[in-house]
Amino acid sequence: MYKDVTGLIFQIQRFSVHDGDGLRTTVFFKGCPLRCRWCHNPEGLRPGALLAVNRPLCVHCGRCQDICPQGVHSVSPGMHGVSRAQCRTCGACAAACPTGALHLIGQRMSAGDVVREALRDAPFYTTGGGITCSGGECTMQPEFLLAVLTTAKEAGLNTAVDTCGFAPSDVLRQIAPYTDAFLYDVKAYTPELHRTFTGADNALILSNYRTLHGMGARLDVRIPLIPTVNDSEEEILRIGRFLQEAGRPHALKVIPYHSPGHAKYAQVDEPIWEPEGRFTVTPEEAQRMLDAMLT
Ligand code: SF4
Ligand code: SF4
Repeated sequence: MYKDVTGLIFQIQRFSVHDGDGLRTTVFFKGCPLRCRWCHNPEGLRPGALLAVNRPLCVHCGRCQDICPQGVHSVSPGMHGVSRAQCRTCGACAAACPTGALHLIGQRMSAGDVVREALRDAPFYTTGGGITCSGGECTMQPEFLLAVLTTAKEAGLNTAVDTCGFAPSDVLRQIAPYTDAFLYDVKAYTPELHRTFTGADNALILSNYRTLHGMGARLDVRIPLIPTVNDSEEEILRIGRFLQEAGRPHALKVIPYHSPGHAKYAQVDEPIWEPEGRFTVTPEEAQRMLDAMLT
């Protein structure tokens, strides 16, 4: 009944092996309420469509400047400026570019079409695979997310939701009956740390964890370990104590920091961040510490 609800996505990745049980079809929803400095998907942060500019491919022919009705592009030899605030994402410049230096990020799809895409991979879902809704933050498009999940369940698919937990509790409560597993990020326990490095307080994230755990939802906690951010022994112990007290997760995985690479950031003109130091506690040590606390 929800098949025709539409939403904005920026990628469908087939055969993912890190987004839940088995082989997954991962759907990346546009928009995220957090600004984690180490984000690997800067193209998914803004809720609307976005023009990506791959400057190394630009030959400065000026066609985009000539065709754009909004005056977004300023092209001169060796330079390509973009005034993003004026862009209406009409796509005319991308269609005119002879080198493929421009493309729009963000495609509107119906829930039915998303699930039909996933069903193409169903023959490979032999070891518990299914569809994973990710992002960005998929709960930022709650009606579309609910539509994808309910349609997927009607089609007999296993469902997972990859979330930062910074979402209205009602939305999480509403989707929980149609979600086989939550891949739930716990990035920090200390509020100031969370605010500094993600741009938002974590009280809602911690309280939503308790709510979902209380509902009996399967919670696969993921802790991105970031040098100079949350890799101190104290912070890891704080996270472990929170999980002991709020309810043990079904699984817990420490995800080591990897540089997201600067090219994606440059294409969408988002500021780049790199940690200024190495791990104090290594990801392997952090995993051992947390496993010991939670078993
Ligand atoms: S997408 Fe449209 S409005 Fe945006 S820069 Fe290109 S031509 Fe201009
Ligand atoms: S049309 Fe393409 S190659 Fe030409 S200036 Fe614009 S981005 Fe560069």
